[in-house]
Amino acid sequence: MAQDKANLIKRVGVIGGGQLAWMMGQAAQKLGLELVVQTPQETDPAVAIAHSTVLAPIADVAATASLAAQCDVITFENEFIDCAGLQTLAESGTIFRPSLDVLTLVLDKRHQREFFAQIGLPNPRYNYLDGDESEADLAAKAEIIGFPLVMKTRRLGYDGQGTTVVKEASELSATWDRFDHVPVLLEEFVPFKQELAVMVARSTQGDVAVYPTVETQQVDQVCRRVFAPARVRAGVDSRMEGIARTLAEQLQLVGVVGIECFLTQNDRILINEIAPRTHNSGHYSLDACQTSQFEQQLRTVSDRPIGPTTLTCSQAVMVNLLGLDEPEDSHHRKLQVLKELPQSTLYWYTKDIRPGRKLGHITQCFGPAEDPTAAAAAIEAIWYGS
Ligand code: ADP
Repeated sequence: MAQDKANLIKRVGVIGGGQLAWMMGQAAQKLGLELVVQTPQETDPAVAIAHSTVLAPIADVAATASLAAQCDVITFENEFIDCAGLQTLAESGTIFRPSLDVLTLVLDKRHQREFFAQIGLPNPRYNYLDGDESEADLAAKAEIIGFPLVMKTRRLGYDGQGTTVVKEASELSATWDRFDHVPVLLEEFVPFKQELAVMVARSTQGDVAVYPTVETQQVDQVCRRVFAPARVRAGVDSRMEGIARTLAEQLQLVGVVGIECFLTQNDRILINEIAPRTHNSGHYSLDACQTSQFEQQLRTVSDRPIGPTTLTCSQAVMVNLLGLDEPEDSHHRKLQVLKELPQSTLYWYTKDIRPGRKLGHITQCFGPAEDPTAAAAAIEAIWYGS
């Protein structure tokens, strides 16, 4: 695989075969691209839409070498890879988009925070531990942040797994023990008024496209619903767009990045974290934007021109369908009810059903006079029963 093949890109390797890769399927067909997916299980959602599959764990470097041999470019739907191990492949000509530098930066929440600070973007107050510090070091670092604070694993956290609020100093040591003294970030607890997110894409030519800012709402630290566009005061969305452009340019991004932020009571924006791939907060774009985030990822990594990102309706809401503590057939009965809802599109990822697992989502699009909050509540009443 060599650089001069880039303008003939036909086959895209995707590391990770979950729902994000599955949702690239339609866009790949539209663009005439073939997807080769590296994923551990035959039953993973994207196996169904893949041209072919390398059945192996995400971080299996030898498997990625075999993926590279079959593809013109490699992109990611999952960032939990072995960046150091993949370096040799990059040095011998494999094209990774986004680059391994971006992936390496994003993999450690400490490096993300340092990078945001370095390029002048606003962080919550934070400190970090490498894991070999004493109890006294921990107490001293926590004292600087103040309580309550949030302790987060620096690597491999997702959906709030590895994120805990520490209310007071007396809980600190036991929480650190529960984290098994892995490297963690300590950061101020932000009493946000809203959580916002934005997707940004950048092409190989350096063109940048920013999606509308959305509001995300989490339940138990897991994204439950997303409102597009975010209902915020004038000026907030243009500042979000500015953050997105700065990040895309400073990262020399090729591909898409999801950016999650906190909006404080007095409308300060603080960055929470970024993801170097399509993102749950951008699923609405499949039904409500001119170019979905999945098509945009494929366009940018395959040297195609970037697509327009404007909304095709006035408003949209996306609700995640998480696994319930109920029998399988109860999930399917509820899906039948959701299918009947007007102005909606239902996505069911056909994963094994487990309580709390992201199994699907539904998007509803609206005119200007409709109430997306009430619509989200109606969907959740059907699915979650309250
Ligand atoms: P993950 O990487 O597992 O998704 P996040 O850092 O995004 O973890 O945290 C998950 C959720 O926890 C956030 O969406 C937010 O609701 C809450 N959270 C995280 N950090 C903070 C913070 N510093 N202050 C307040 N709430 C936070």
